[in-house]
Amino acid sequence: MMVRIRFYQELNFFLKKEQQQHGLEVESAPGQTVKDLIESFSVPHVEVDLVLVNGESVDFSYQLREGDSVAVYPVFESLDISTVNHLRPEPLREPRFIADVHLGTLARRLRTLGFYTEYQNHADDSYLAERSAREGLILLSRDRQLLMRRIVSRGVYIKNTKPNEQVRELAARLDLYEKIRPFKRCVVCNGLLRRLEIGSREWEERQHQIPPGVRKWCRSFRICDSCGKIFWRGSHLNRLQALLHQLEQDARRKAE
Ligand SMILES: [Zn+2]
Repeated sequence: MMVRIRFYQELNFFLKKEQQQHGLEVESAPGQTVKDLIESFSVPHVEVDLVLVNGESVDFSYQLREGDSVAVYPVFESLDISTVNHLRPEPLREPRFIADVHLGTLARRLRTLGFYTEYQNHADDSYLAERSAREGLILLSRDRQLLMRRIVSRGVYIKNTKPNEQVRELAARLDLYEKIRPFKRCVVCNGLLRRLEIGSREWEERQHQIPPGVRKWCRSFRICDSCGKIFWRGSHLNRLQALLHQLEQDARRKAE
């Protein structure tokens, strides 16, 4: 049987060139779900927010019928679709991430910006998918197959390959600008940082970890609650300045 399908906006990114920006007549087997049809185009279901069949919103388990016309919309911010079913659970107020093994640098940048981001360089795909599903973590990956796993409901396909561009892409996509908190989280272990008071007992015990030159000029230190690493503005923020500046500009452009 034949059905018609059209992918809108950013979802065209996932299609072959000749499939982009127009409706497609495709063969579908009786009983095929709309999720299977969408993923037969290698579009991860986590990228889809809304599916209309003949103008009505449906969920992923909808079984296709002869002559159905399917419209597939990405996760978007601007268009008002509040009256219809979103396929994603409600967005989390504090987004928390888990990055796949190829996105270590992105994971470290996100931590530096204050976002909870799990990352292990040996985590396999099953672990990532299960952990994401169980903990409600947003799975970050450039692997469509991983994002297509059935149990994954929160995920973002990262389009860019350069870490700073990846951060900007994600910030725009999930509107992270207001949530950025540098100096909050440990880049090494994802633990939370707290103030290390100069002159405190802990300071006396720990200050040998800080180069004497830095001790002379810096008056503000933080320590990781989990791994004990000490951070100061120079160590933490210098390399981040350019990215923060870029994100500020992106946020301003978006607000206009
Ligand atoms: Zn730490």
